[in-house]
Amino acid sequence: MAEYANIIVDISHEKLDKTFQYKIPEVLKAVLKIGMQVEIPFGKGSRKTTGYVVELTDTPEYEVEKLKEIISIAEGSIPIESQLIALAGWMRRNYGGTMNHALKTVLPVKQKTKEKQQRSLHLLLSEEEAKQQLAVFEKKHSMARARLLKALIEEPILPYEVVTRKLSITATVIRAMEELGILKVETSRSYRNPLGEMKQEKSRIVLNEEQSHIVETVWQNFSKNKNHTYLLHGVTGSGKTAVYIELIEKVVKAGKQAIVLIPEIALTYQTVVRFYQRFGERVSILNSKMSPGERFDQFERAKGGELDVMIGPRSALFTPFSNLGLIIIDEEHETSYKSETIPRYHARETAIERARMAGASVLLGSATPSIDSYYKTQNGEYILLELEKRIEEKPLPQCYTIDLREELKHGNRSILSEKLQELMEERLEKGQQTMLFINRRGMSGFVSCRACGHVLKCPHCDVSLSQHNNGRMVCHYCGYEEPVPEVCPECGSKYISGFKAGTQKIEEIVKKRFPKARVLRMDFDTTRNKDSYEKILSAFSNQEADVLIGTQMIVKGHDFPNVTLVGVLAADLSLYVSDYHAPERTFQLITQAAGRAGRGKLPGEVVIQTYSPDNYSITLAEKQDYKGFYEKEIQFRKMMQYPPAGHMMVMLVASKDEMTAALSAELLAKKIQQSMENGKITGVRTIGPADAAVAKVKDIYKKVIYFKSKDYSQLVKIKDALELFVNRHREFANVVIQFDFNPMNGF
Ligand code: ADP
Ligand code: ZN
Ligand code: ZN
Repeated sequence: MAEYANIIVDISHEKLDKTFQYKIPEVLKAVLKIGMQVEIPFGKGSRKTTGYVVELTDTPEYEVEKLKEIISIAEGSIPIESQLIALAGWMRRNYGGTMNHALKTVLPVKQKTKEKQQRSLHLLLSEEEAKQQLAVFEKKHSMARARLLKALIEEPILPYEVVTRKLSITATVIRAMEELGILKVETSRSYRNPLGEMKQEKSRIVLNEEQSHIVETVWQNFSKNKNHTYLLHGVTGSGKTAVYIELIEKVVKAGKQAIVLIPEIALTYQTVVRFYQRFGERVSILNSKMSPGERFDQFERAKGGELDVMIGPRSALFTPFSNLGLIIIDEEHETSYKSETIPRYHARETAIERARMAGASVLLGSATPSIDSYYKTQNGEYILLELEKRIEEKPLPQCYTIDLREELKHGNRSILSEKLQELMEERLEKGQQTMLFINRRGMSGFVSCRACGHVLKCPHCDVSLSQHNNGRMVCHYCGYEEPVPEVCPECGSKYISGFKAGTQKIEEIVKKRFPKARVLRMDFDTTRNKDSYEKILSAFSNQEADVLIGTQMIVKGHDFPNVTLVGVLAADLSLYVSDYHAPERTFQLITQAAGRAGRGKLPGEVVIQTYSPDNYSITLAEKQDYKGFYEKEIQFRKMMQYPPAGHMMVMLVASKDEMTAALSAELLAKKIQQSMENGKITGVRTIGPADAAVAKVKDIYKKVIYFKSKDYSQLVKIKDALELFVNRHREFANVVIQFDFNPMNGF
């Protein structure tokens, strides 16, 4: 039981870190918890005021005699802030970092912003006139105008922001159409949701039997106050979003609120409009392009009871709804749900904790669920729900796996296989579209044999080795090293090397091979500008190009009915990233990429090019066999004790001085070794220290140590012990340590 409590008095203060320490009176010691609102004497005159407990500690920060004592726990209802502060406390405990980091993540900081005006576009023409005008635009190839007009025919009043951000229409186009008398821009005062006037209930979907059954299952439990975490497994287009909307409606009718997390890249115009059509001005969206002030405004609206539904990426999870009933996480397998900055929280786990505190349910949805979540449906932690059929029973596309080793044997050294070239040619003739997809995630420099497909792996960790500039192959988990071989150790071929082909290079190759094709490229470089992502997608959607080349970004997003061919250029690139998630990512990427082909009336084909055609993540993705893949993958995880069969924690040890980093890492590893020997910590395996994947960044040297355990709490214990140890010993003054639990990308 802690002796002292750190308290914040004003949570809307720009500096959340201003906490005050108080003594905890004996009677409160057993009951006081993080998040509680308490009455305290404050300031010179010891005026009675209220504050929130943000931290409990045994370490006094001031002279103990001078500390005042907490008066009492505040009476009455518990405000939403208490819950969020308690959640921050949970995040700090489970993911590391400071309480201040955690608080800044869950509580939006008030910003001084001037009132923003909200604008909306109103169609001035009748439907008949609008359609005639549309034909004119289309004839003149005024694509942006046509796109906007089409949207307005569907929905005669549209929010300005949605039009510019999600349809990527520029202000110039809007002005031009205003001058033509096609539309008018109306301005309303801030805080009013511009979407309020959209007509609702336009096209109410009647759920099919499968969908209704799912809604009923969740709803029955919910009405009996039985809250669970559900995993909805259903291929893209099986009607998951329709299920979400129906359930949210029920929850809202019961007087509760809902949060919907969708990766930003997948939050398309169509999806936004579907939610607005049902919930009108009671729904709002968050996105990363919003200023902190705009975000704060949306959170204020939520707190003030103006909203029922919030949609957005990871951070929407902290919407201050006081009567939260449901949290939905769409595309739950997405890595963007894991924060890569402190606190390194996972939105899925954090959502489940928030739901537990609030008495809410959680619904996860995906076409390719994470191995973690599916595992939990098998051991009874989550409830599995399935949508087996696509809505219009569209057939899955025809897949061809191309063995690149065979291509090499036949003398084709191009990145485009014969089959792919042939099919692309056909598409160009028919005026259909092709998507070429290359996965650059990781760029981790694995080395493989182009003749036999052999990949150099760590003998201890069963992940690929990475090539370093010093000419050695290194394991980033355990530090194992060997020299880069000159010939393949399997077959003796000299075609053994790292894989090098970026999107730009592929664009050149495609242009050279198909000089008449109109080619668009989407990658980190071409999407650096605001809105360029949406622009490229819209251009492709308007058939302004025949081929779209891209990284994993193009796997999500708009529906392209005219795309009938998808090429996965080098499936191996994600297969041999030195990370235990590699097979899972590969399976997901191929399945999702394949899901892009043949979404319209025309059937689709998929070409998967690889040096490892027999790898299970490729053969099973080709068959779209999720369960088969899960069974294989979980065996591997169990054998290697990788999550979810066990837990992993990685500790980063960083210093400006190489020697200091190395020695500190050794010392800390030894310290944990000792704790294990004397029984303070049990059931933990340490691996390393090793160089981090990028061992030196901006002159900071980075070492990592991995810890594996069946028991998460043992890992938390190690984290706490090491944090304390480092803080208390001066030899670590120039060392920074950080932790990442069940890492996605690691350090
Ligand atoms: P998912 O989220 O699984 O990709 P959606 O909910 O977006 O699936 O559904 C795919 C398409 O099918 C959408 O255009 C949607 O409007 C339509 N749809 C969904 N459910 C039904 C239904 N019960 N009847 C008719 N159309 C439906
Ligand atoms: Zn070989
Ligand atoms: Zn290793």
